[in-house]
Amino acid sequence: MSRAPAAATDVPFFDRARETAPLETLRGWQWERLAGGLGDLLASNAFWRARLHAAGVRDPRDLASWADFAKLPRLTKGELAADQAAAPPFGTNCTYPLDRYVRVFQTSGTTGPPIRWLETDASWTWWARCWATVFRAAGLGPGDRLFFPFSFGLFVGFWAGLEGARVIGAMAVPGGGQDSPTRLHAIRELGATALVCTPSYGLHLAEVGGAQGLDPAALGVRTTVHAGEPGAGIPAVRARLEALWGARAYDHAGMTEVGAYGFECVAQAGLHVNELEFVAEVLDPDSGLPVEPGEIGELTLTNLGRWGAPVLRYRSGDRVRLATTPCSCGRTFARLEGGILGRVDDMLVVRGVNVFPSALEGIVRRFPVIGEFQIEVFRRGVLDEVRLLLEIDDGARPAGIVRDTLTGVAEAIRRDLGIRIEVSAVPARTLPRYELKARRVVRRQTPGG
Ligand SMILES: [Zn+2]
Repeated sequence: MSRAPAAATDVPFFDRARETAPLETLRGWQWERLAGGLGDLLASNAFWRARLHAAGVRDPRDLASWADFAKLPRLTKGELAADQAAAPPFGTNCTYPLDRYVRVFQTSGTTGPPIRWLETDASWTWWARCWATVFRAAGLGPGDRLFFPFSFGLFVGFWAGLEGARVIGAMAVPGGGQDSPTRLHAIRELGATALVCTPSYGLHLAEVGGAQGLDPAALGVRTTVHAGEPGAGIPAVRARLEALWGARAYDHAGMTEVGAYGFECVAQAGLHVNELEFVAEVLDPDSGLPVEPGEIGELTLTNLGRWGAPVLRYRSGDRVRLATTPCSCGRTFARLEGGILGRVDDMLVVRGVNVFPSALEGIVRRFPVIGEFQIEVFRRGVLDEVRLLLEIDDGARPAGIVRDTLTGVAEAIRRDLGIRIEVSAVPARTLPRYELKARRVVRRQTPGG
């Protein structure tokens, strides 16, 4: 599949003039919206009023410059959880009376207790607009039919994506309450041109199709958009998704606490941050100071269009690296090279070497005979040890494929990551599959225990 940057005239934008605005203009717009929202927070949001007062901001004018902004304390997920525990069920991050809110969601609970989030009519419209930016950048628009294989429940996940499809004039096909074979059937019968799901589920759905003698690449899907995990930004995962679906795979990033902030353009040179709707900072996780250009830091985000329950300087936990050169698409938005490189809290330490599960996945997915995989972490003495479990499809293949694959993976890990990890085969289709965020790192007392 071609990776040549698109000619400027071919680049799809949601709002070309604003997405390519000079940086100073963009910063000016951000500042205007920030200053406008601060007034509401100071007037009637108990959570933010207390935090801003503690930081010496009692009036929007107390925040006079971006340098002042950078002195505001960063917000952690733990602080949000503590606020909701102290003031259930919604906490105190509410700018308006509760009857102004039209949606409630909660986080998926992968990293701690679920946090609830309220949306006003305006902020729900904002969510839809953010997703519209994601879809348009991937070339989707009127005439497209977007299939969402997602259990539409309390987790915001792809709910807002469904709304975003409406904004770009595409047809949204909800795929909730269905098993995978039914979803494949719906994709074919209803003529879906795009699939919107986690990378793990995109792989799983293709696998189910294959097991039923159905070629996913023949279903008519030409674009896939993936969120919830770094997968689509990992070259080997993207290559596999594209090969299985015969489609171009786009990465997207968002979270309940922040919104749908990251998207890929047709140049697919990393994730853009939608800086019309978010302020993005890449900071040293410990000091909170900006990292040097091109260095890895933690993405810290501020909402500009969600004043009913916003976050300012929220620590996303995502490790990213800001590109230092402009994107060929013409957008002036920040660009995160390689997408989300890993989660700060996902890092494993294997004999003193930092290893991110996404780095292991980047190696595993280079081997087409490997189906699912799992990363077992267990204690051996005082150290964490890691074992990689691989499902290897040895059906109708020459003997030795299992042994060769195990050797190949172990070699690649040693060569690329500089560590030795025990690698074992498990029978095909014995590891869990995931509709949402995969939980492939498993902590055990003993290997296999
Ligand atoms: Zn771009």
